[in-house]
Amino acid sequence: MINAARITLALTAGSIALPALADEVNIYSYRQPELIKPLTDAFTDETGIAVNVAHLSKGMIERLDAEGARSPADLIFTVDISRLYAAVEAGHTQAVTSEELKANVPDLYHDPNGHWWGLTTRARIVYASKERVEEGEVTSYEDLADPKWEGRICTRSGTHPYNVALTSAVMHHHGEAAAKEWLEGVKSNLARKPQGNDRAQVKAIWAGECDIAIGNTYYMGKMLSDDEQKAWAESVDVIFPTFEDGGTHVNISGVAMTKHAPNEENALKMMEFLTSPKAQEIYAKANYEYPIADGTEADPLVQGWGEFEADDVNLMELAEKRKDALKLIETVDFDG
Ligand code: FE
Repeated sequence: MINAARITLALTAGSIALPALADEVNIYSYRQPELIKPLTDAFTDETGIAVNVAHLSKGMIERLDAEGARSPADLIFTVDISRLYAAVEAGHTQAVTSEELKANVPDLYHDPNGHWWGLTTRARIVYASKERVEEGEVTSYEDLADPKWEGRICTRSGTHPYNVALTSAVMHHHGEAAAKEWLEGVKSNLARKPQGNDRAQVKAIWAGECDIAIGNTYYMGKMLSDDEQKAWAESVDVIFPTFEDGGTHVNISGVAMTKHAPNEENALKMMEFLTSPKAQEIYAKANYEYPIADGTEADPLVQGWGEFEADDVNLMELAEKRKDALKLIETVDFDG
């Protein structure tokens, strides 16, 4: 646990025993450089603290395992609660809190114990063909299992973390037995075996292979800014389904401090900077996501997709259901 008293103590001790610590902070990031760079530059401008980022596409946990207490990493950046939670479960994070963090991040979007903190959200929504789906035809996640969609739904693999989290949310609302039925219902409505990424499903709608698809909101922005994919995006409406007794399923991008962070004080400063409303807005805009602090606003393009009420569940609860959700997905052979 980090707190002001301990930091003061650590610095005092450090200044007696050691020459000045390097003024830097080290990040291991699953997020792409173009998303991180505007933030790290702004942080360095404001604080004079240098930021070193190692961009990883996989294997972060294994790397932290191998480095152990000698790891140079102070902070982990990633998307999806399952990846944040995996780092926590592996013992690579530490509990962090401060008045500023708590003021900036709503309770739903941070670990009650402070091991991970959300920075932005993305909703997992329905992309619906403008031509073949009427307004109001799909309004809930439960709807996706309705036989009226037989042969009309496309999705990426059920075992992808995005769909595991969605299935965890179904379990949260309806219990395990109903979640299994839901998976079976959605599976029997698929137009084709799960394949490709979220954008490939929108392409399939554009190509007439299916009428609705499950995907994350920010891909709409990414497709619209791509010459080839723009037509796919323009063939669909963004629908924010809700749970019958809840809101729209969201996931987060977030940050965690490593257990052995060599630059704890700078890392906490960086976390406070990242969670600040201004930084959230910059970060959200870069990837067409939603900032989460009170009073922040998404980019006008993102706002244009419509308003929604996020589901009222702490993501930790979904993370804890992750393994059971994955088991259900495999039991119904969702991808088969
Ligand atoms: Fe994604």
